[in-house]
Amino acid sequence: MKNWMSMVVMGAVTNSTFLLSSPPILKTIIPFSLTKTSPYLISLTAPSRRFLSASSLPSVVSADHTFNFSDSGDGNGVAVSRTGHKVLLKGMNYSELEKWVQSHGYRPGQAMMLWKRMYGNNIWAHHTDELEGLNKDFKKMLSENADFKALAVKEIHTASDGTRKILFTLDDGLVIETVVIPCDTGRTTVCVSSQVGCAMNCQFCYTGRMGLKRHLTAAEIVEQAVFARRLFTSEVGSITNVVFMGMGEPLHNIDNVIKAADIMVDDQGLHFSPRKVTVSTSGLVPQLRRFLNESNCTLAVSLNATTDEVRNWIMPINRKYKLDLLLETLREELCLKHKYKVLFEYVMLEGINDSNEDAKRLIELVKGIPCKINLISFNPHSGSFFRPTKDERMIEFRNMLAEAGCLVLLRPSRGDDRMAACGQLGSPGTIQAPMLRVPKQFQTAVLGTLD
Ligand code: SF4
Repeated sequence: MKNWMSMVVMGAVTNSTFLLSSPPILKTIIPFSLTKTSPYLISLTAPSRRFLSASSLPSVVSADHTFNFSDSGDGNGVAVSRTGHKVLLKGMNYSELEKWVQSHGYRPGQAMMLWKRMYGNNIWAHHTDELEGLNKDFKKMLSENADFKALAVKEIHTASDGTRKILFTLDDGLVIETVVIPCDTGRTTVCVSSQVGCAMNCQFCYTGRMGLKRHLTAAEIVEQAVFARRLFTSEVGSITNVVFMGMGEPLHNIDNVIKAADIMVDDQGLHFSPRKVTVSTSGLVPQLRRFLNESNCTLAVSLNATTDEVRNWIMPINRKYKLDLLLETLREELCLKHKYKVLFEYVMLEGINDSNEDAKRLIELVKGIPCKINLISFNPHSGSFFRPTKDERMIEFRNMLAEAGCLVLLRPSRGDDRMAACGQLGSPGTIQAPMLRVPKQFQTAVLGTLD
C-alpha cells in the first residue's frame, strides 16, 4: 500500500493480504482482474532466505512458479542468510535472540548487550567491530554464526524538500525503496516497504504496476528503520515515526509485518512509540481484524472512494471486501479498543472521488468509527491518467468534513520531484499489471487527460 503517510500517503494504500497464512494471492485476485497467464504476478525463482523452522508452511502459487513461505519469511522461523548459513540477527525478536545466544553457551545478559548495540544507544551496529564492551569469545561466535545486515545501500536521492529516498539491494538482487521524511515540527518519519512490488493493483499507484515479486522478511523490514537512523539521525535529528506505506500491502505480509513492528517498539531497542508506528492497508478485512487484535500499533486504511463502484475500479481489493464489510469490521473492532483511532487515507483524484456528494457520503461512511481522515494530494507518475484535485477543491472538501465534525487534515505531497512521494515508489519495468476498464461515467474525466 503504499500509502504513505505524511508524505503521505497514498500508497498507503498498500494493503493486502491473504497471503501468508491463508489462501494464495492469485486465487483471490484472478477472478476479477487476471488470467493465469497474466504478468500481474512476477514470481521469484531464487529463494532469498532459509528458515530453521520451516515445517508446515503454506505455499503461494504465482503465474508460473511455486515458492514456499519459508523462502520469503513467515515471521515464525529464524532467518538465515543466503551465504554461509548464518543467522540473520534482525530477523529475531528479543526472546528469540536470547534463546539463540543461550543455545551457543552464552548468558542472557550477553543477548541484551547485543540487542542494545544493534538497536539502542545510537550505535545501530552493523558489524562485530562495533560491539564495544562485549566479550571477545562472544564476538567471535557472532562473526562465525551471524549476519548483521540484510540490506545493502544502492543509491540515495534527496528531493528539494529534504525528503530522502534510499534504494536498497536485497541479497537476491531485488531492489526496494525506503523514504525518510523530515518535518519542520521536529518529527521525522521513515516510510518502510513490506514487499517487493504489490499484488493489489490500485490504479493510481506506480508500485501497483510492478505486480508482486515477494514478501520482505522481518529482518529486511526492521533494517530499513535501523538504516534510516544510522544514516540520517545526525543530519535530520531523531527519527520518531515509522509508516508501513512504502512498496507493498503490509497486511498481505502480516506475520513479518507484525513481527517487525514488535521489534521496532521494543523499549530496550529502537523504542518507537506504538502510536507512532502506523501500518497501512488497502482493506484486507481478515488480516485487519487480526492486526487490531495482535498489535498496539496504529492502523491506517486507504479508503479513496465512497462507493463500491468507484472503489472496485481504483482499488480492486474492494471486489472481495466491500466498503460496508470493511467499515462494519472497523466499527466492531474499534469498540473493543481503548482510545484508539484508525487513520483513513483518501487520495483525491480530480473528477473521480472529490465531489460534494463524495464528501457527504464519506461523512456517513465513517460515522461511529473513531478516526482521523487524511486528504492526500495525488502524485502523478508516468502512465497514470488521473489528475490531482485542485487545492481549492481539496480545501472545500476538507471544510465540508470538518463542519460535519470529522477530524480531517490536508496532507501535502513530499519528495515528489525525486519520485519519493506517495504512490511513486518502485520500478515497474516492461511487464506491468493491467489497467482496469474505466467505468463509463468517468471516461470523460479520464480520457480528457489522454487527449
Ligand atoms: S497497489 Fe499496493 S502499494 Fe500501491 S497503493 Fe495499492 S496496496 Fe499500496
